[in-house]
Formats: sequence, C-alpha cells, structure tokens
Amino acid sequence: MDLGLKNRVALVAASSQGLGKAVAAGLAREGTRLALCARGDAALQETADEIRAETGAEVIARAFDVTVYADVRAFVAETVAAFGTVDICVANAGGPPSRSFAETTIEDWQRATDLNLMSTVYLAKETLPLMQARRWGRFIAITSMTVKQPVEGLILSNSVRSGVSGLIKTLSNEYGPHNVLVNNVCPGYTATARLLSLAAALAKKEGVDPSEIENRWALQAPLRRVGRPEEFANLVVFLASECASYITGVSIAVDGGIVKGLY
Ligand code: NAD
Repeated sequence: MDLGLKNRVALVAASSQGLGKAVAAGLAREGTRLALCARGDAALQETADEIRAETGAEVIARAFDVTVYADVRAFVAETVAAFGTVDICVANAGGPPSRSFAETTIEDWQRATDLNLMSTVYLAKETLPLMQARRWGRFIAITSMTVKQPVEGLILSNSVRSGVSGLIKTLSNEYGPHNVLVNNVCPGYTATARLLSLAAALAKKEGVDPSEIENRWALQAPLRRVGRPEEFANLVVFLASECASYITGVSIAVDGGIVKGLY
C-alpha cells in the first residue's frame, strides 16, 4: 500500500524516546520530512541522528517544552522556516505521575493540565491554520486507553486526557470541512521508559518486584503481553497517511484488547 506520505512535513512533539520516537521513525520510513522536539537536547539529537542514519530523512530537532506556549510557537515557526509548512502534527508529551486522589496536590492537577491538555491546545492553535490554508492536514493526539477505561492509580491521566478527547472530537467537526483530519490514538501498556517508571513506582508502593507489575499488566490484555512502540506507531503512521482520508474524529485504542467496552 502506498501511504502517500513522501515529502509531507510531520511535526512530532516529545519525540526523543518512547512512543514519540517510534512514530517519528515510522513517518521517516515513509518519506516524510520531520521536526522533532523534547526538553533535553542531548537525547533528542541522538534520536534525530539515529533516524537520519536509518532512513535518510531530513530532520530538524529542537529542545522545546510543549507546556510553554512560546516554545510551541517557536517550534512551529522553525519548522515552517525549514520546510515551508506543517502537514501532520502529532501532539505528544510525557505522562502525569501515578497518584491516588488523596495524594494529589493542586499543583499536580495544574501540571497535568498543562502537560497533556494545554500542550495539545498550543500545538493545535499553531498548526491547524497552516493545514486549513492548504486544505490538507492530519492532527493526531497521543492520549491513553484511560480515555476509554480509567486505570487505577492514574487519576490525573484519567481526568485530564478526557478533556483532550473532547477537544479532538470538537476540532474534527470544525476542521473537517477544510479536509483536515483530527484523531486520537490511545495506547495501552507499551514497553517504553514511561512504563518502566510507572512499574517501579507501583512496585515500591506494593513492596513487590517491578517485573511482577509488568506481568500483571501483560495478563490484563487478551494478547497476554505489553505492546511494542512500533505497533503503536503503525496506527499513527496510517492515520497520518493519504489512505486514512475518510477517518476523522475517532479515538482508537492500541492496547492488545484491554479496554472492555464495545467502543
Ligand atoms: P516516555 O516518558 O518514554 O517519553 C516521553 C517523551 O516526551 C520523551 O521524549 C520526553 O523527553 C518528552 N517530553 C516529556 N515532557 C515533555 C515536555 N514538557 N515538552 C517536550 N517534551 C517532553 O513516554 P511514552 O511511554 O513514550 O508515552 C508518551 C505518552 O503516551 C505519554 O503521555 C504517556 O503517558 C502516554 N501513554 C503511554 C503508555 C505506555 O504504556 N507507554 C500508555 C498510555 C499512555
């Protein structure tokens, strides 16, 4: 299948490691030009070099914090200066910490809102007008299976990410008439540094080995394992492609079947 992604410009936020990196590499393999960002420059440049070496893609990589609107504006402006526009925006960031409600502080709530909701708003504000002007675009948010089924201990993610789902669905209505597709991709347990740190935090709380927690997560999935970042990235690459041209406003889980609801 020709995904029709050659020479498209893809901006992938929070992409020095984990899901963002896997998405960036997947898009680069299909011939997109790439703009990457993360807070730390060293790991980001390493990732950019790795992707260039593997795919030959043109990549710019800048240290920016997606919770800061001025950073997002600068990131998009530098992408436009380098490549002329943004065709595809993948809105990603880190995840909020694991806490019970009683353990959360008001600052935790503010940080989680900035990290997951406001960063998506900033990226949408800066990239959707570019897509609208060219009557072609893909805006894809990376959220979590928590938008379909709350996960114990992740009250911050369970709460804030539902706001992102509402945003995405509403944007799909507003930008559909301009041929801009807006979708939400919801990972389940996927083997990244984020998953390892959540396992370590939970293991400490319960006084068990982190491998026990990881095994428990694997067993929740009908597929009886956690996912690989590439398996998640494959869906994002498809949604970014020409082949997804009649899909908008959906939230799709890549979770090995963990979510028990019908949709
Ligand atoms: P990760 O922690 O492995 O990687 C996060 C990336 O985001 C890194 O490149 C980091 O540098 C960057 N980043 C973090 N905060 C940033 C900021 N403020 N500005 C710019 N860059 C920033 O996480 P991951 O596992 O790849 O997860 C990506 C997203 O998917 C997170 O929101 C996570 O909560 C969510 N998620 C992950 C899983 C999973 O099992 N891995 C499951 C559900 C949801």
